Amino acid sequence: MATFAPVNCELEFIAPLSSWLVSQGSVPVIAGPCSAESEMQVLDTARALAFNPSVAAFRAGVWKPRTRPSGFEGMGEDALRWLKLAKDETGLKTMVEVASPLHVELALRYGVDMLWIGARTTVNPFLVQEIAKSLEGLEVALLVKNPVNPDPDLWLGAIERFYQSGIRKLAAVHRGFSFYRKSPWRNAPMWELPIELKRRCPSIPVITDPSHICGNRTMLASVAQKALDLEMDGLMLEVHPHPATALTDKNQQITPGELSELLASLVVRRPSGDQRFEMHLEQMRSEIDRLDVELMEILARRMEVIDEIGNYKLTNRITILQIDRWREILTDRLARAESLGLDRQFVARLLEIVHNESIRRQELILNQSGSAPLL
Ligand code: PEP
Ligand code: MN
Repeated sequence: MATFAPVNCELEFIAPLSSWLVSQGSVPVIAGPCSAESEMQVLDTARALAFNPSVAAFRAGVWKPRTRPSGFEGMGEDALRWLKLAKDETGLKTMVEVASPLHVELALRYGVDMLWIGARTTVNPFLVQEIAKSLEGLEVALLVKNPVNPDPDLWLGAIERFYQSGIRKLAAVHRGFSFYRKSPWRNAPMWELPIELKRRCPSIPVITDPSHICGNRTMLASVAQKALDLEMDGLMLEVHPHPATALTDKNQQITPGELSELLASLVVRRPSGDQRFEMHLEQMRSEIDRLDVELMEILARRMEVIDEIGNYKLTNRITILQIDRWREILTDRLARAESLGLDRQFVARLLEIVHNESIRRQELILNQSGSAPLL
């Protein structure tokens, strides 16, 4: 098991989420487009969302952090005007991403109610500190997305900087973590991290953002369900009236109607009564998931080396199976396995399966080369 830092959270006076993110549904939902694109798109979305009792705030990106400079970078101040219109007409609270003190000043000038810090900003303590300074003495609610890299200290550190500048309406947003390996996720959820944040700091509400975790529409409901099952405190979902034409994140956005369907499909279970049990179980399961991935990677690497040996033997006309070598392997591995507390029979069966597969691969190399069998 990984070892975790001791509980050392000093954020005692964080306001309860329900005091500032008010929803009539069973879970508070922040919804709205990835980006504010036009007055009509903003107003259409807000009008539709205002009918949804779960929606507690209307989100929209007005300055967009883009990986490449050629992407759509947001409509800036124009978008703030549209958000103001949406708020005045529907009564929905508005929320935008800020990445500098100038963004804070402009957003507040247009009556934005809540701000969020994006994943690419949370990674930078200089920037976080500058933004925190610009918020001193202000009443605004603030949400801190997890940093792109899986580092609970960096996430908590950003939250602490805002707390120190006097912000009390504070929450964390779990949007998943960058993962360099091929994965079904846009950002791997690594549930053990939001769980660890809650363990260290039970007063911090955590809102799950399935849209940026999934990067597609198909997995949104299962991630949202998992968030509820792990007793996360709310959801943030990207909603667009016509997702197919969205200027950013079009694969993950859903229509207001699809949002209602998704929310209706969620099962809000009664808390098990023992949250610590659930969290600990999840941490252990995450550890198993990680170990299984490692096991597969090690097996794949072993087979690559086996193929190399196969080719080497082929060029040098050496037999595939050298019984002495196999005996040596068995004796050595079984002794090691026993010293690690593994069952001898189990390991012998496992080694045999791996060995048979290695022979099969080397035979394949031989057959493909057209040479006569050497075994
Ligand atoms: C967003 O919410 O649209 C966004 C850019 O999020 P993140 O910072 O999680 O990538
Ligand atoms: Mn987005």
